[in-house]
Amino acid sequence: LGPLRAPPAAPAAPAAPEAEDERVSLAELSLMNKLIHTSLVESQQHVEILQRDPNSPLFSIKTFEELPLKKELLQGVYMMGFNRPSKIQEQALPLMLAYPPQNLIAQSQSGTGKTAAFVLAMLSRADASKKYPQCLCLAPTYELALQIGQVVRTIGKFCTDIKVNYAVRGNRGESSPEQIIIGTPGTTLDWCFKQRILDLTKISLFVLDEADIMIDMQGLSCQSIRIHRALPKSCQVLLFSATYKEPVRAFAERIIPDPIVIKLREEELTLSNIRQYFMVCQSMDEQYRALCNLYSSFIIGQVMIFCQTRRLADWLAGKMSQDGHQVAILTAELTVVQRASVIQRFREGKEKVLIATNVCARGIDVQQVTTVVNFGLPVDLDGEPDYETYLHRIGRAGRFGHRGIAFNTSHTFWQRLFPWSRSNDQLEQLSCG
Ligand code: ADP
Repeated sequence: LGPLRAPPAAPAAPAAPEAEDERVSLAELSLMNKLIHTSLVESQQHVEILQRDPNSPLFSIKTFEELPLKKELLQGVYMMGFNRPSKIQEQALPLMLAYPPQNLIAQSQSGTGKTAAFVLAMLSRADASKKYPQCLCLAPTYELALQIGQVVRTIGKFCTDIKVNYAVRGNRGESSPEQIIIGTPGTTLDWCFKQRILDLTKISLFVLDEADIMIDMQGLSCQSIRIHRALPKSCQVLLFSATYKEPVRAFAERIIPDPIVIKLREEELTLSNIRQYFMVCQSMDEQYRALCNLYSSFIIGQVMIFCQTRRLADWLAGKMSQDGHQVAILTAELTVVQRASVIQRFREGKEKVLIATNVCARGIDVQQVTTVVNFGLPVDLDGEPDYETYLHRIGRAGRFGHRGIAFNTSHTFWQRLFPWSRSNDQLEQLSCG
């Protein structure tokens, strides 16, 4: 891309609340996934396509050369090291680049190539000779918007005349000649209707990324609908989401009636390849000793140790380090970028043991995790057993069909937390000693 406006600096983050239970928002999780997915996430699932007229022809492609991409874009694709389209791209790209333009909804889990697909569409549709915004992309947060801009910059490296601007907080708005605008719904609305510096009547491609997060964050879906209403009728609309449950479907269909929907189902969480053990300990000290005994056998692969609270995670990390064990720690106290860097070091094998709160109980793929330890069992905010978090935690071991082991150590509420421990033959008891 040509000289770009520098992305605006982030305003100071609000102070983190002193929450004991560390949950992350979907937006943070998505950003973390984007930062750590440096290559495609392979999927065993088939792509499903739903469309109003099942007889209308659909094309799928096996190579990028089959697409009507200008040579600068193909150069960008090669430079990224993309040899062939991902599963979702095989089906979605021909539709996204077709004439007449088609509206599309695409759903697939993080890391399957959605961003790269719509970035190619934006760079392909943008006409560099026209000095006004033609493609508008909305993302739920400032950080996610900047992340998309980064992908535009890299894939569009050879499209030197196409420029990008960001409609995000902190960016001083002025009438902009850039062909691609990436923004959050609130600031974009502001630019369009208050400051009147963004003319929506000439937008020919509208991309709504992370629709499920837009719905999760109050107000964003309504703001997106307001922006959509001001677009020309002929504008192509592409909507992306990692999930496609009822609220997303309803939102998507308000924006795109009778859409073509391309879906790649999420890999299912299977526990059959994970052996689960539990250790009933009498005290926290005994729980710690049990963990140290286990630690000496963690030689193969990598281990994640989950704690319910940041305080417990800090205490455990301190105690293990004092006792000469090398451990890394991941809590919500770190910024998303710091967390992604810890996860990256862990993924690269530079760290073998990662102590974490629920910040990465789900959604984070580290294929080499063979062992998960629950240092205390997960409970919800009411102190009740949190089975879902338990499943997501232990699901970190044994991703992609690999064999995994889960150890559970607890000294409190054992029977209440594990009512099924006696009847579940997948769970075996070990002694704490
Ligand atoms: P999503 O938007 O679904 O989370 P991304 O487009 O960010 O997925 O892609 C995830 C990772 O895979 C990124 O590092 C991206 O550069 C890479 N990637 C995307 N498409 C391809 C492809 N066709 N071949 C190889 N890598 C790809």
